[in-house]
Amino acid sequence: MVTVKDKSFRPFIEQIDIERRIAELGEQISKDYIGRQPLLVVVLNGAFLFAAELMKGINIPCEITFVRVSSYEKTASTGQVRSLLSLTESIENRDLIIVEDIVDTGLTMTELLGQLTARRPNSIEIATLLHKPEATRVPLKLRYVGFEIENKFVVGYGLDYDGLGRNLAGIYQLHV
Ligand code: 5GP
Repeated sequence: MVTVKDKSFRPFIEQIDIERRIAELGEQISKDYIGRQPLLVVVLNGAFLFAAELMKGINIPCEITFVRVSSYEKTASTGQVRSLLSLTESIENRDLIIVEDIVDTGLTMTELLGQLTARRPNSIEIATLLHKPEATRVPLKLRYVGFEIENKFVVGYGLDYDGLGRNLAGIYQLHV
């Protein structure tokens, strides 16, 4: 059990299993994008560790850029997506892979997809480390999913609780 701020979390997915799974996703992406040069669009802050590990596992030429979106306050979704998209480079005709830490309701991803599509990329796929299928309210094609998990709050491996817990090497689940 670990304490993050005022809450207890129990071990859920070990670092070794996370890294093994991300390596598989990297291999899959390398195969799927052979002959192309994908641009990873990383959703900050939560996806930074996932993105770093994923990129190490991709063995074809690829690039990376970062966007910032936020819809979460404390441990419950506000349902409102504040998008602070700050891409400076052109993504026209690029093959984008959005790299996200977790798809929960799917609202953040839907908003981001809309904003990116408007800039005319050649293709967009989604890579998410975690997915909570029970919580997802909008239809989304998630091409690369690390783990499908139940609808409980998790921290660690880049994911935070009120800004803390991102440095935990494994993923931990809220203990209630
Ligand atoms: P959505 O828009 O899909 O509901 O939420 C996506 C965002 O909410 C994620 O990028 C993440 O920042 C946050 N989020 C959703 N579920 C969790 C969770 O269980 N733990 C943490 N730390 N963040 C979450």
